[in-house]
Formats: sequence, structure tokens, C-alpha cells
Amino acid sequence: MVYLDFNSTTPIDERVLDEMMKVYKNVVGNADSRTHIFGDEARLVVEKARSEVANLLNINKDEVFFTSGATESNNIALQGLIDYANKTGKKHIVTTSIEHKAILETCKALEKKGFEVSYLKPGNDGRILLNDVKMHVRDDTLIVSVMHVNNETGIIQPVQEIGDYLLDKEVYFHIDATQSFGKLVDELKQIKYDMLSMSAHKIGGPQGVGALILRKKRYKLPPVKGIMYGGQQEHGIRPGTIPVALVNGLGSACSFASLEYKTNIEKCRNLKRVLMEELEAMEIDYEINGDPEYCMPNTINIYFDGISSEALMLSTKQYCGISNGSACNSKSYKPSYVLVSMGLPIERIENSVRISWGANSDLNEVRNSFVQLLSTVKNMKI
Ligand code: PLP
Repeated sequence: MVYLDFNSTTPIDERVLDEMMKVYKNVVGNADSRTHIFGDEARLVVEKARSEVANLLNINKDEVFFTSGATESNNIALQGLIDYANKTGKKHIVTTSIEHKAILETCKALEKKGFEVSYLKPGNDGRILLNDVKMHVRDDTLIVSVMHVNNETGIIQPVQEIGDYLLDKEVYFHIDATQSFGKLVDELKQIKYDMLSMSAHKIGGPQGVGALILRKKRYKLPPVKGIMYGGQQEHGIRPGTIPVALVNGLGSACSFASLEYKTNIEKCRNLKRVLMEELEAMEIDYEINGDPEYCMPNTINIYFDGISSEALMLSTKQYCGISNGSACNSKSYKPSYVLVSMGLPIERIENSVRISWGANSDLNEVRNSFVQLLSTVKNMKI
């Protein structure tokens, strides 16, 4: 069995797991306990992890707020501005129709609270246009929220340009960097965002932990507020006992990513080249969804003419794990809203699958499994 659904979640890096086990076994305190050495030891672990996240992004460690993952970070980024919006009347949000549900559902909830949301659509290349952002930002715009990389297509969005454009505007800029964090490391250091969301489990870290980054330097507007009532952990942005071992796992994953991201990207790119060669050699009708020039080196979203993705996933289930969209939407089959937004015909959407891998994926294993998948496609056509 070959796992080819890394955009959904990644296997935990064993080195990260080892670090976490050390913490689980040896660190017993609550990181916010100030009365004994057990608390001090836990705090040391948490603060080391905070520095590791900050180093990867080239930001200050006091700009890192641990959360349970990108869903929570996205929720805080948007809902944490409600008070400010109510005070100022700035109740317009600009986002895109291809965001993760954690943004889209939050926006829907905010619409019910009197917010107006502009959902920008990508072209059929999968990309949002900077010009479209420019055309929609108004005096009462509170925040622009755009994902760095789309989880279904792997298409990189022009967040660098959007950040530059918004720099002198009284508008927050949030990026959902869940799919690029730890991968597009140099790019993320350049982007001028106010807030950034991410999850550890997309880069070999554990599930259930992530961070919201709140840039102080860029903060031209009042700070975001937490959305839960509780203790003062994470300065109230995210109350609740900090999960020390999980946070340590996130930090370790960041440390490895800092050292290895260049070779990781190269390995992914090489694997993609090999898969594309196999695809071309097989003589089957296919199209790649999204502009390959802007696509992540670890993702292919591919349309096979006349082969339903549901049938293909069923036929390949015994030897590989692929998907036809976001895991969050896979309980009931609905055509991918991301591909729908790109204006692709329904037949193309229903016949598209996503294949995603990581730097530690075994090239030969993935190649063999992909060739087997392509043979299945060929046989299904007959
Ligand atoms: N944003 C994007 C772009 C994602 O791909 C994901 C996960 O698939 C999330 C947010 C949510 O992350 P989590 O489920 O870890 O909260």
C-alpha cells in the first residue's frame, strides 16, 4: 500500500515522534504553572518550540500563538476581529471561493452576523488575480484572507503581490499557509502578512496542533482577540492548557524543515517529474487541473477522460491511497467546489483525482503504484 494523500495529512516523522516521546515520558508539568520546577521544565519545552516555529518564518517568537491547528487559527483570525469590526463598521471581508472550509464556513457564520463577504473566483488555471483583489478592497474592508497554496490543486496563489498591495492599507491580511508552511520557506519569509495559519500534521508533525502567527511589526490595527473564554494561556488568544508534547512535535518538525526544506522540495520535484514521464508514456487521455507552472512539486490534480474518480478510487483502494478533494468533504460525494469555482466542466470534475506525496515518499514505490493506477485507468477505459 502506498500513501498518496499527503495534502490531507502526512505520516509523522519518526524523529519528531522520538522527541515527543521524550517529553511525554519526562515532562510532567503544566507550562503555565509558576510555582514549581515541573512547570518551568514544561515552559522551557514550549518556549523552545515557539522559537523553532519563529525561526522557520523569520519572525519573533512572541508572534507565535499555539492553537489546535489551522482550523482554529483560521477561526480566530476572522472571528477575533468581530469587536473591532463592530466598533468601526468595517464589516467587509475579501476572500476566495477556493479557501478551505475553515475559512468558508467561518465567513458564512459571519455573514449571518451582518458581515458582507466577497468571494473571489480563480481563473480556470486555479489562480486568483491580484487585480481582482484590488477591485474588491473598499474603505470598509476589514480583512483580506487568501490561502497561500490550495490543498486540492496545489496551486500557489499570488499572496506575495497581495501583501505588497495591502501594505499601506488599513486592512488586515491573513494567509492560510497550511499547505506551504515548512515547504515554501523562502517565499513565506518574504510575504507581508498580518496573520498566518498552519497545522503541524502537514509537515510530519502531530495532528491536533498548529499556530496562528500575529505579526506585531505589521500590525497597523488593533490586535486580534481570542474567541474562547478561559485562562490567559497564549495571552488569551487561545486559552487552555498548552499540550506540551504536541507543541514540541510542531517545533521539532519546524527544526527539521528549516534544515531540510531545500532538499525536500527537490525530492518532491524529482518525483513529480518521474510521475509525469510515466503519465505521458502511458498514452491515456488526461489533463492536469491548474497551471503546472504555479503548482506545488508534491501535488498533481489530474483528470482522466471517461473515468469517474469514485470508481478509480475504489479500484485502486487495495494498493494506494488517493483522493478526489478535501478530506473534510469526503463523507458524502459532492463535486469539488474548488474545481467548480475554476469553471471546469462537471464531467471533468467528476473524473479528477488528487495525488500528493512527501519528500520521504519512496520514489520506486510511488512510481510503481502510479503505473499500476494508470494501468487500471487504461483497463477501465476498455
Ligand atoms: N487550511 C488548509 C489549506 C488545509 O489544507 C487544511 C487541512 O486540510 C486546513 C486549513 C485545516 O487544518 P486542520 O484540519 O489541521 O485544522
